[in-house]
Amino acid sequence: MDHASKPVMLDDGPDGISAAAALLRGGGLVAVPTETVYGLAARADRDESVAAIYRAKGRPSFNPLIVHVADLASAQVLAHFDAEALKLAEAFWPGALTMVLPLRDGAPIAAAVTAGLPTLALRCPAHSVMRAVIAETGLPLAAPSANRSGGVSPTDAAHVVASLGANVDAVIDGGPCEAGLESTIVALRGDGRWQVLRPGPITEARITAVLGTASEPVTSQAIEAPGQLASHYAPGKPVRLGATAAEADEFHIGFGALAGDATLSASGDLAEAAARLYAVLHQAAAAAQPRIAVAPIPEGDIGTAINDRLRRAAA
Ligand code: AMP
Ligand code: MG
Repeated sequence: MDHASKPVMLDDGPDGISAAAALLRGGGLVAVPTETVYGLAARADRDESVAAIYRAKGRPSFNPLIVHVADLASAQVLAHFDAEALKLAEAFWPGALTMVLPLRDGAPIAAAVTAGLPTLALRCPAHSVMRAVIAETGLPLAAPSANRSGGVSPTDAAHVVASLGANVDAVIDGGPCEAGLESTIVALRGDGRWQVLRPGPITEARITAVLGTASEPVTSQAIEAPGQLASHYAPGKPVRLGATAAEADEFHIGFGALAGDATLSASGDLAEAAARLYAVLHQAAAAAQPRIAVAPIPEGDIGTAINDRLRRAAA
């Protein structure tokens, strides 16, 4: 494909999906809408296509990728599911939950996907376009967020093009993402112990309710999910949190009664705030003010995941 013509913009109907599947089978990179953020998809079984993801994102090779599958049966070909994992799949798939599970010997997954870990991160997404792309490609797809590593995640097709440009072969435009925050990542240890590695749309309380046990405290010093990296989602300007008022040189991101220059949710609705978070961070990054101030966001429910992303954006 000639460089100047990239990325090809595809619509989210049958023709766009077929074109995307053909590119993916051929080892190409396609940005695809999901219910969380846009994913940068490639076939997960080939070293070269997976290497292309790391290159396009400028992603450090120690940061493993989430593999997206059509259903539980396809997932079980790749990783070992114990009773807990089966319960979570039953409760939350398809949806915004990623499970980190023991990788099966001989699973058709390129080594770079897991960055050498003996575990695999798996998700069965709910978005109809991503589901159709996986079905038509007929392969597990590795798909991190479709942005340069460390930057703000994309929640619409324009964000993808602005961040990755010609580094991606094609982008399916499926409009804005509904949840707007990356999936919850839960690690299942195989002995009944479990831990949330990254908070997200499926809250820890809901996982606890399904499993009937509390999560284990985070003790490991090793970075298991680089979504855990202290600085991530960075808009490229200093970010100040908990700001009830803004200085003259700050773009103020509001919430609830604090209107700001742009609001996450005028009505103080956390789900709306999650869906709008990255779009508003992109807007703040592009604004004239050299700094960003963010109104306080309440903890609890998806507020926990919003504050997790904001702390990393500010770090
Ligand atoms: P992103 O692709 O930007 O949504 O980030 C994917 C997240 O999944 C990163 O935080 C990865 O570290 C995490 N992840 C992927 N595979 C694994 C794994 N095998 N163990 C732990 N975390 C993983
Ligand atoms: Mg990401």
